[in-house]
Amino acid sequence: MPATIIDGKEISKHIRAELEQEVAKLTAEGIKPGLAVILVGNNQASRTYVTSKQKSCRAIGMHSELIELPEDVEEQVLLNEIETLNNRDDIHGILVQLPLPVHISETKVIETISPNKDVDGFHPVNIGKMMTGQDTFLPCTPFGVLQMLKYMELKVAGKHAVIVGRSNIVGKPAGQLLLNENATVTYCHSKTPDLASYTREADILVAAVGRAKMITAEYVKEGAVVIDVGMNRDEHGKLCGDVDYNDVFDKAGYITPVPGGVGPMTITMLLFNTVKSAQKLLANRK
Ligand code: NDP
Repeated sequence: MPATIIDGKEISKHIRAELEQEVAKLTAEGIKPGLAVILVGNNQASRTYVTSKQKSCRAIGMHSELIELPEDVEEQVLLNEIETLNNRDDIHGILVQLPLPVHISETKVIETISPNKDVDGFHPVNIGKMMTGQDTFLPCTPFGVLQMLKYMELKVAGKHAVIVGRSNIVGKPAGQLLLNENATVTYCHSKTPDLASYTREADILVAAVGRAKMITAEYVKEGAVVIDVGMNRDEHGKLCGDVDYNDVFDKAGYITPVPGGVGPMTITMLLFNTVKSAQKLLANRK
């Protein structure tokens, strides 16, 4: 049987419509949610992501601001920019687009962003809160994955989730969030021998590898929920995921497409986190 498509664009539309109402309410209270994005250098892919994030902010009535710094900017100059944003009342979310040039410490940059404005959810304080199940900003891509499962009313508790990939921004937090929802979680990575023997046991399979179409039907259990985080180019230069969509389509129970799956959800959860930050500020004022 063909899989049911988990339509990230459609789910995003619903969430963004709700957020737009929240933004209007906050604005009426004198707090227009604001996101500042810092872009260092001229990486074309980064620029495309940043433009898309800004457009999405404005579409729901949020304030969005871009700070551009040259490729050879001194680390301290970037850290000072972040400090300035930390202290601005009209900015509720700060995002430094990754990757950064090699002379800049990603760790230092992430740790300089105030945890209260860390809408990417990368700060160690927020990661710690996520690990211990406390309310915090959740990392946008894994948060988006969770929202997709919730929207589709797919059961997570008691299911076996297998995550392929263990990066700090996708794989690890994706597993943690599913664990928080009472899944039994297995992590796989580049040193995992016989990967398919693990992935074939997955009720929920999350692919976050960065290798075009590597997850074929033989890696997938009949009826599994297959979430494709990957964003790669195929041999024709076309955007594709880590999952071989056509091959897996008839075997999976549910599947996310690329494009139109996890990608739009990531930006949506960034908007969500920024609105949440502004809401917290309002609650503290009252
Ligand atoms: P990283 O390169 O940081 O991590 C990749 C992970 O995959 C690593 O843990 C690595 O293992 C593992 N891996 C690599 N090769 C294999 C293999 N042959 N078998 C099993 N595991 C393997 O990537 P990211 O986590 O940042 O991103 C993953 C993908 O998701 C990329 O395509 C990226 O573009 C995409 N992405 C999409 C987003 C979206 O919004 N849709 C957002 C962010 C990322 P090891 O740790 O051992 O090296």
